Amino acid sequence: MFVHEYQAKKLLKRFGFYFPDGEVAHSAGEARALIDRLSGDEWVVKAQILAGDRGRFGGIRKADSASDVEKETRNLLGSTLVTPQTGADGIKVNTVYIEQAVKIECELYLAILLDRYQRELVLLASQRGGTGIETALEDAPDTLHRLTLSVDEAPDEAVLLGLADKMGLSGELVNDYVDTCSNLHRAVNELDALSIELNPLAVVEDNRLATLDVKMEIDDNALFRHDEYSEIRERNRLHDRKFRAQSGFNYVQLEGNIGLLVGGAGLALATMDLLKLHQLEPANFLDLPPIATRQDVANACQTVLQGASVDALFVNAVGGGLTHCDTIAEGLITVHMQEKIRCPIVVRFAGTKREHGLTLLKNYRVPIEHAETMDEAIDILRRKNRR
Ligand code: ADP
Ligand code: MG
Repeated sequence: MFVHEYQAKKLLKRFGFYFPDGEVAHSAGEARALIDRLSGDEWVVKAQILAGDRGRFGGIRKADSASDVEKETRNLLGSTLVTPQTGADGIKVNTVYIEQAVKIECELYLAILLDRYQRELVLLASQRGGTGIETALEDAPDTLHRLTLSVDEAPDEAVLLGLADKMGLSGELVNDYVDTCSNLHRAVNELDALSIELNPLAVVEDNRLATLDVKMEIDDNALFRHDEYSEIRERNRLHDRKFRAQSGFNYVQLEGNIGLLVGGAGLALATMDLLKLHQLEPANFLDLPPIATRQDVANACQTVLQGASVDALFVNAVGGGLTHCDTIAEGLITVHMQEKIRCPIVVRFAGTKREHGLTLLKNYRVPIEHAETMDEAIDILRRKNRR
């Protein structure tokens, strides 16, 4: 699960990071009203979308008065931001974060991510932080420093002191940097994050480090361990229909009430045609990639179910390619164990591991209606259809 900048900043607060004063707004009026509560006399209005590179594409606006903040909020809310990370359709802005603007001396990059294969954490640090880090690193790859950290043990202070030196820091900033790295290590562990990226981590006025932007991905398998995540998840689901679909699925939002989880775009289109032929309307469809893992299927299923209008779920899959029916069944089981699927589920499996998939669903008591054929599936859906 990816979280918005403002959510990440809130989650990180207790670990001792310094952030400029900031608050969230969902309307221009709300934005104007909250300025009195924020320090400073200049602010940035920051579009909250689950994609980066907002700065270069109009998603970060400076404002030096309450009316300016109100104006920029009005401009951003409801607009669609297109950045290299959003895809061509862009993402609609529903929320802004209004933050005190700070004077920046220099911008660093600092991130810790989990390397699943090596079972260790990797710290990445560069002096060339801020907007355009990717191209900066392409031009000068040796400015990216990489450290391997143990998951369980706190990072070695001497190593971090060496890193602070490589960042060109001196005086008070050295300890500030070492603390920031240690805090980040602790945060990744305690928040069950797969990655946390501070970019920029900026040297600002008063010679201190301020975290101006955070990108964070939480391990979906650990969501249940943190009460605070369920609210974030619900909120993001409501506001960002593409929330999970951003992870590379082909997801299309439609107007009807039947959620479609289908293996393959061709089958998805055929399924939609068949539904329509019988006056059934798809709420959306999600085409599973040819190589989907159990977790991919679970995420896909949650994406399809997130639409408030979904009255029934139709899983139509041919276990061909590399994703077999049992993997799809495991994905459904994962979702069922996490949150109990409340709507009717019609499953039609064909192809490899069909029997095994159906047995798994039965053993785990996922309340599905099994259809042998597409026609049978349509019959069940028509019976269940509440519209
Ligand atoms: P993105 O990474 O999506 O472009 P950032 O939050 O990193 O968005 O903002 C882009 C740039 O805007 C930063 O590199 C920084 O230069 C500037 N910026 C962001 N927040 C502030 C702030 N509170 N005060 C001053 N400048 C800021
Ligand atoms: Mg950034």
